[in-house]
Amino acid sequence: MPELPEVETIKRDIESSLIDHKILDVWTDWGKMLKSDPETFKKAVVGKKFGSVGRRAKLLIFHVDSIPLVTHLKLSGRLLYRNQKDPIDKFTHVVLKLDKDKELRFADMRKFGWMRVLKDEGELDELLSEFGIEPFTPEFTLENFSRILKSRKTAIKPLLMDQSQIAGVGNIYADESLWCARIHPLRPANSLSEEEIKDLFSCIQDSLRSGIKDRGTSVDMYLDLFGQKGEHEKNLKIFRRDGSPCPRCGSEVKKIRVGGRGTHFCPSCQKR
Ligand SMILES: [Zn+2]
Repeated sequence: MPELPEVETIKRDIESSLIDHKILDVWTDWGKMLKSDPETFKKAVVGKKFGSVGRRAKLLIFHVDSIPLVTHLKLSGRLLYRNQKDPIDKFTHVVLKLDKDKELRFADMRKFGWMRVLKDEGELDELLSEFGIEPFTPEFTLENFSRILKSRKTAIKPLLMDQSQIAGVGNIYADESLWCARIHPLRPANSLSEEEIKDLFSCIQDSLRSGIKDRGTSVDMYLDLFGQKGEHEKNLKIFRRDGSPCPRCGSEVKKIRVGGRGTHFCPSCQKR
């Protein structure tokens, strides 16, 4: 699933390309991805222009004229900015036809992704209120982070991935952050020392920042807005490196399941 660095990369790509394009038409063969009847969706967006774009957690928030248009790529969604005459991308299920012979394609193999028109800013606020603290904002402080960890007995990894607590961290960057901070993914969150909390706080930001710098990780379906892979896979330290030596100590990286998700860690650096 695209996580904060991947969605942030797409957001930045959108800023450099999609803004000011006018939507001329909408095509879909899978109306469910629009979360409304396709005709209603079409009526709401056709004739409008892409204005600002933002990101909250793993959501992309467009404004077409003043109407909020929100997209979640879920497991395998891709947003692709193409010329209308470019060969159709595999798994394309929604197309926003734009002026200047361009189009925005929403491709999704699994079809869990969605693009939804909201009524107004109030509905947007309501939708965004379910997310927790957002890394790289002033509210992401050591104090706030520490408060979340100290109040919970749950294993640290699923807590890092809980979008209602910390927004944008998913499976890849949770594994990378915990390895960086030398913390076992199954440690109860409230068992971390002050020092470990501080390290993890920095490691989360470093892991995410490094993912953004490399334009995301393409271990699964992720592509940027122009259909290019991210470069971060080569810089992953632990994720999907099971069977290989830990880059820090040389012990063999192990894979276990935590909260149903494949989890990679070094048994020597990350003691339980
Ligand atoms: Zn190690």
